[in-house]
Amino acid sequence: MKLRTIIALGLLAAILGACAEPSPPTGVDGPVVVIGIDGAEWSIIEPLLDAGDLPNIAGLIERGAAGRLGSLDPRRKSPVIWTTIATGLDPDDHGVGGFVINGNPHGRDSYSHYSSNMWKAPAFWDILGDRGKTVGVIGWLVTWPPWPVNGYMVSQHVQYHDRFLQSGQGRGISWPDGLDDAIAPYVTDELALTPSQLGRFARGGVDGLSVLTEHYESGLRRALAGDASTYAVARFLLSDDVPDVACVYTRGVDEVCHRFWIHAYEDTRPPIDPAKPGTAMLADQAAELSGLIDEYYRYTDEEVGKLLELLPPNATVVVCSDHGFRGPGTWGEHAPWYGEDQHALNGILIVSGPGVKRGFTIEDASVFDVAPTILAMTAAPVADDMPGKVLSEIFTEEFVTANPVATIESYGRTERTDEAPIESPVDDEVLERLRSLGYIE
Ligand SMILES: [Zn+2]
Repeated sequence: MKLRTIIALGLLAAILGACAEPSPPTGVDGPVVVIGIDGAEWSIIEPLLDAGDLPNIAGLIERGAAGRLGSLDPRRKSPVIWTTIATGLDPDDHGVGGFVINGNPHGRDSYSHYSSNMWKAPAFWDILGDRGKTVGVIGWLVTWPPWPVNGYMVSQHVQYHDRFLQSGQGRGISWPDGLDDAIAPYVTDELALTPSQLGRFARGGVDGLSVLTEHYESGLRRALAGDASTYAVARFLLSDDVPDVACVYTRGVDEVCHRFWIHAYEDTRPPIDPAKPGTAMLADQAAELSGLIDEYYRYTDEEVGKLLELLPPNATVVVCSDHGFRGPGTWGEHAPWYGEDQHALNGILIVSGPGVKRGFTIEDASVFDVAPTILAMTAAPVADDMPGKVLSEIFTEEFVTANPVATIESYGRTERTDEAPIESPVDDEVLERLRSLGYIE
């Protein structure tokens, strides 16, 4: 055999050997950043995209895959759905059944709040943390008390005002110890919001705010302060370092939709009856607040944009909502709002990053698919006991070839299975907010 042939055969054997033992899948190169926007709805987003009003969300859609995200049917409350998104599991398997549990073991107000010790299964960030990924979780529902992760966790109590942070009562809002003090300067008190911060949401600016009764003004303040706090804390933490997996959840979009949909969308609004007292006020409110929800989406897009600026170019960004929104609610204060009946069954899903197809339309995705898809994205096995599927169609061919989906039977159930809810210093305030949104009586 000629030397040249021997060398060629040797090279061939080396190539074949390399093919027989491919390098193990590594998943996406950069960090995965999940931005959860409660109640985000395509029918509001689409006209704003057409008008060029949501440039940051538009950029993510252009560079990635987007479509409807089917929610739990029948409709469930947000904490149930966000826990499904985090665990990939059915509510019966993950243990979180709502905001509150009827029949309060603490004997107050006949309600107690679901607390994080009631999760029966690990979130994708726990699974990935166990596999050595660094994680940061900010504001996710039912994460109080925060639990140890391979990084940090700021519970959803970050949205409730700085008085809790300053009070030093009970357990902290974040993990590890010491983080409460570090994030405190970034938390906004709803009462500290200025007229000009609120005025952008009324047609007539600061003067237009005069139509806001206490019910509406406090609703707007709470939504905005909660979101401003969450986004500011997220910016503070992500500007230091972006962990391998970061999750940021905000609730304000859902809250303003519950409260202000009735002013914003004439086609779903009950008629204003001129014979009824207070009619002039209703008409004034509808005129002043008709752009409030659209403006809140513009505000949200700005906040999302500020987060995106902190991410490296190889980040994969997932934007999702737990459900959509369809209104309309009811006129008046403390009226019988419809609570989760106002939710629409399709939320949003946008995934953008180097391994994701550009301009791809996602069809037939559900909230069950988010956790398996994030696991697959990061080359972690998907559990057979997760009812959802990996949305493989959103990834480029190169990514799919390099990252075949592995499976395991189950990630099991966590040790945090104490089923008694833990009382928190903000329970009464949370309860009052849920009442004013119509979730509970
Ligand atoms: Zn809602």
